[in-house]
Amino acid sequence: MSESSAGEPHMPQTPFYANMVCELWDLVDGGIDDVLLRVKGEAGVNGITLTLAGGPVDRFRPQVGVTPRMFRSTAGAHFHPNADRYEATRLKPVAADWLRSRDPLPRVYEACDRQGIRLRGRLTLGPALGQLHRHDESKLKNAYGEINPAWYCPVNPDVRALYTAMVADVCDRQVCNKLEIMLRFPHASWTTGEAPAGFAGTNAAAWLLGLCFCESCRQQAGNDDVNIDAASHAARVLIDAVRQPDETDPGMSLADLLGSDDALRQLHVWRQAQITTLAAELIETASCDIWFARSNTPINDNMDNRVIADLAAGLIARCPCADRVEDIDAVVRRVCEETNDVRRTELRIDLHGDQCDEGDILVRCAQRAAGHGVAHMTFGDFGLLTTDRLDWVRRAVRFASREMTS
Ligand SMILES: [Zn+2]
Repeated sequence: MSESSAGEPHMPQTPFYANMVCELWDLVDGGIDDVLLRVKGEAGVNGITLTLAGGPVDRFRPQVGVTPRMFRSTAGAHFHPNADRYEATRLKPVAADWLRSRDPLPRVYEACDRQGIRLRGRLTLGPALGQLHRHDESKLKNAYGEINPAWYCPVNPDVRALYTAMVADVCDRQVCNKLEIMLRFPHASWTTGEAPAGFAGTNAAAWLLGLCFCESCRQQAGNDDVNIDAASHAARVLIDAVRQPDETDPGMSLADLLGSDDALRQLHVWRQAQITTLAAELIETASCDIWFARSNTPINDNMDNRVIADLAAGLIARCPCADRVEDIDAVVRRVCEETNDVRRTELRIDLHGDQCDEGDILVRCAQRAAGHGVAHMTFGDFGLLTTDRLDWVRRAVRFASREMTS
């Protein structure tokens, strides 16, 4: 029943966009229509986000009866790339190994369309999306000249051409109403999520070890008058100087480090500009709205959230499911300062494992954010949640949308 037919005065309403991360492999293994029905019915959301390209996947599925119980995949595209799109780059994207010959994306699109669910794709740009040991010239290279096989350097021209081609390839398929992109220099650039054995350093040391001095960075930073040899020398010297914090001294912060060395500060500013120009190219290429995943540690990631927010349709901020619900205020305020518009601000709240302890906490957080005018929220993620937690999301969505329209 519409509002006017209910006899109530017409009130301008802000629509509330509730979204859930629901990965392609979970849709396929659980049955596309069945999973979408659960996402809508049990979690109460009307949009899904799925990864279309990213790093390796290794996860346990807590939902009883879903097989395989451990889901693993190589890095790559979760669709079969159209080779014609990638003629301008020597890097050819590889489809993730779990897909084999199938391509479920069109069926997911049709099912979403039938069920009235918005479909959003996500590209995680940074992990090496091709085969691990090929294309070494496109990989990150540290100040000692050692290659990190897991990450592409976003300055390398082939990598940049790969990313723009991938955005175009995804947009050609016309399955997404919105594309979410994660783009940055990898923080610390470990090959996995963890620091390597033997490294017990500070954040500043991790950043220094993650700096890239590949041929592309050397050449282009040099053209832009960055003293790349001085920066490389400083990185090697300072990694040892700032490596070990002790009990009385937490070690030098990254901000202090950048304040103390001109060449490193120049390099940092230049790396930010590289990310910004690449983001602008991707937005220019796309035929749908592009939202960027905000960096929670911009200085580490060499990402300027404000500048990226000016270019993009909006920013997506990871937000903890805070025990102290007032903490949400600070997160929303900070992101809105970057986007200048709460309507271009989305919160992503993960609630698997120990990321959220109680349904009531989630409800209060979502309600509080909605009270500030946040109309876009994504909850993560279907394949990692037990049934009771899907119900937490349903309650959070109900109360938040009520808060929006009150
Ligand atoms: Zn590089």
